[in-house]
Amino acid sequence: MSLTAEDTTSADLGLHWKPGFESLGPAFFTHLNPTPLPAPYWVGHSEGVAQWLGLPADWRTPEALQALTGSLAVAGTRPLATVYSGHQFGVWAGQLGDGRAILLGETAGGLEVQLKGAGRTPYSRGGDGRAVLRSSIREFLASEAMHGLGIPTTRALCVTGSDAPVRRETLETAAVVTRVAPSFIRFGHFEHFAARGQHEELRALADFVIDRFYPACRGDARFDGNAYASLLNAVSERTAALMAQWQAAGFCHGVMNTDNMSILGLTIDYGPFQFLDGFDPGHICNHSDSSGRYAFNQQPNVAYWNLFCLAQALLPLIGEEERAMAALASYRTVFPAEFEARMRAKLGLGEARPDDLALVEALLRLLAAGRVDWPIFWRRLAEHRAGGELAPVRDLFLDSAGFDAWMLSFSERIAQEPRSLEPDSMLKANPKFVLRNHLAQEAIEQAQRKDFSGVARLLALMQAPYDDHPGMDAMAGFPPDWASTIEISCSS
Ligand code: AMP
Ligand code: MG
Repeated sequence: MSLTAEDTTSADLGLHWKPGFESLGPAFFTHLNPTPLPAPYWVGHSEGVAQWLGLPADWRTPEALQALTGSLAVAGTRPLATVYSGHQFGVWAGQLGDGRAILLGETAGGLEVQLKGAGRTPYSRGGDGRAVLRSSIREFLASEAMHGLGIPTTRALCVTGSDAPVRRETLETAAVVTRVAPSFIRFGHFEHFAARGQHEELRALADFVIDRFYPACRGDARFDGNAYASLLNAVSERTAALMAQWQAAGFCHGVMNTDNMSILGLTIDYGPFQFLDGFDPGHICNHSDSSGRYAFNQQPNVAYWNLFCLAQALLPLIGEEERAMAALASYRTVFPAEFEARMRAKLGLGEARPDDLALVEALLRLLAAGRVDWPIFWRRLAEHRAGGELAPVRDLFLDSAGFDAWMLSFSERIAQEPRSLEPDSMLKANPKFVLRNHLAQEAIEQAQRKDFSGVARLLALMQAPYDDHPGMDAMAGFPPDWASTIEISCSS
């Protein structure tokens, strides 16, 4: 990346760009430039994402810092904000849209680069268009942590900060997350054009998504050969698989509005999310969610509800309601099958057996009754299976008799395995390091004092969460008492 003498108004990030979302036409977005963030600085960055994008080795130049915070245009791009609508907390919210995220463009490698917190857009609805450092660090670390766990997600190249004040409940400072994904299209994009009766745009959007991401839908003979029903089916199955991964990882999203549901089945829009500490199936991580609509154990059902909204939006293209319902039907079998498979992997089991679900359910009841720490239980069980003592697992349960009974059925189940699995296979399915709220909080408070080393340290752990990382055991321990007092709301 270099600035030539003639060109001091744009930065060349060293990327090639191609027409992407922009090719849909002006009904789908508004062109606009980010609002410059004054005196920016680097807060954190992911070399993994830099490589994924194909950035040069020395990409973190002063010009890149300016470009990723809106003070310099990125050569070859024409930024835009997209329009979408959605259901929020079960209620139709009408038009929303990228209120603070600005899409720079799509790279030749097919990755969209978006600046979240880059200033007001026509879709800001009274918001300031900014994101605070706190929530930007949470999104950056969480999306890289999900990737480290092998869970589909949008990713983040970097967080850039500024001392510019931003008012939330208190005065905070502004930041931008540079997000990267093959597409940021949401269910809400489809709902938007359906609600307005703009069926041509609806079809163009569906065709765009099918051509790029779901080409097999074109030749699908099921659903009377209707490619849009096939798309709904494919999105539904990807979403089912994603929910299974969330539930197995103990990940609570917190704001599963239809505008926060990715058409690619990616985890998207990290706000008040939480990785569970003690296992509480009804845990509500979003302080603003008074009814518990988005409680941990509601997520698979809410995802189905959201898919139903997508089905309604696609109905003008699918034609018959029955066909749309047929396309959704497999969610009911794919989710439980995927969930069981994920749990079997966590238990180090190979082939499926009829009683596996009962074994998993008995364990979940036991864990819930004792509010047993989710990551620590699994890791200790994995360590035991890899040759360690049983006592550290057993000590987690007040109900020792209940645990012993479960452990007996688990041992009997293991004995049925046709061939013994690698003793450490469970260590590769149960992370040692999890981005718990209190860990993120400590790194945030450090960063608010301009020390960004905590962010970098957490990132390194979360990018390789199954590894041992000698000397880092303190980051794999129980949460401190104050962790339960952290209140995370929608405010970000
Ligand atoms: P969320 O549920 O946080 O993903 O956001 C819901 C909607 O509010 C989206 O349209 C966002 O773009 C918009 N939004 C959230 N915060 C802001 C903000 N500070 N300024 C402008 N728009 C915002
Ligand atoms: Mg959102």
